Amino acid sequence: MQLYNNLSNNERKNLLKEAGKDRLTISFYKYAKIGNPEIFRNHLFLFWNSIDVLGRIYVAHEGINAQLSVPADNFDEFKNHLDSIIFLKDVRLNIAIEQDIFSFLKLKVKVRKKIVSDGLDEGVFDVTDIGTHVNADEFNQLVEDQDTVLVDMRNHYESEIGHFKNAITPDVDTFRDSLDLIEEQLKEHKKTKKLVMYCTGGIRCEKASAYYKHKGFKKVYQLEGGIINYARQVKSQGLENKFIGKNFVFDERRSEKISDDIIANCHQCGAPADVHVNCANEACHLLFIQCEACKIEMDSCCSSNCKEINSLPYQQQKLLRKGQGNSNDIFKKGRTNNITTFNKNELLVKLSKAPLW
Ligand SMILES: [Zn+2]
Ligand SMILES: [Zn+2]
Repeated sequence: MQLYNNLSNNERKNLLKEAGKDRLTISFYKYAKIGNPEIFRNHLFLFWNSIDVLGRIYVAHEGINAQLSVPADNFDEFKNHLDSIIFLKDVRLNIAIEQDIFSFLKLKVKVRKKIVSDGLDEGVFDVTDIGTHVNADEFNQLVEDQDTVLVDMRNHYESEIGHFKNAITPDVDTFRDSLDLIEEQLKEHKKTKKLVMYCTGGIRCEKASAYYKHKGFKKVYQLEGGIINYARQVKSQGLENKFIGKNFVFDERRSEKISDDIIANCHQCGAPADVHVNCANEACHLLFIQCEACKIEMDSCCSSNCKEINSLPYQQQKLLRKGQGNSNDIFKKGRTNNITTFNKNELLVKLSKAPLW
């Protein structure tokens, strides 16, 4: 099974398809004191690898943050093993709304300094003094309250395709930036307003709520289990769904649909669209929103320049890439000046005139 990690994405996809087994996409996190993350990492890898678990997992002295794809048949074994680890016994598992056997194609368990790159200095505030957890029902009531300020703790490219109605969605690239921005915006209201926050699965709010309490906010709440868990509760309990659009997720699925609304626009022509793609030029890989028409016009690329490079033979592309590090700008979509934009009407006219083959 170790060899599996050496296969290409397509080879892995084929293996998963041939296996024909249902898989569950699951995420969980836990802040805990882990003395030796390397040993813990090896322990997890060996067992999960043996029961065909895939995913991306970060382990640090401060805890674990895991996103996984588990064969449905092996779920009990997976769960029993988690329960055998003291600090993971009965940990809340966020189970994805939309399942996809291809959500993860490899098993990567990495030792990191932190389980979320929050940009915060260690030891400056008490990370265990967190806000009050609320469930979906309590959350729905809280956000109706006149004294509530609802804040999205995710980054701009996540809230762009879906968020709670009336939420503040900071226009930021990083978690650290959004912490400062929110504090500045709400500094007059630290004692009076109810600060209610949410993120994808809850992990970012654990740190954020402790940070805001440290900064003097008195009434701090966080949505337990984040949007993923909220969507499940809304369905199972027949509650009103206050989330519009899609929930951005960090696996091959990219997002899961929570409501039918399309709240974002194509970054190239402005038409309603909420499908994130990576620019087909491997040297660019920019993450951005592209509609079907632009996809055709641009050969799945973000710019004319990328389109040109992408049309070159693969070996030539490789030569061009030589010496250039991997771009770290992949999430900066919509902020780059390189992206090629269109007037929607001109594009439609152009496409209608284009020969079909
Ligand atoms: Zn478009
Ligand atoms: Zn590009």
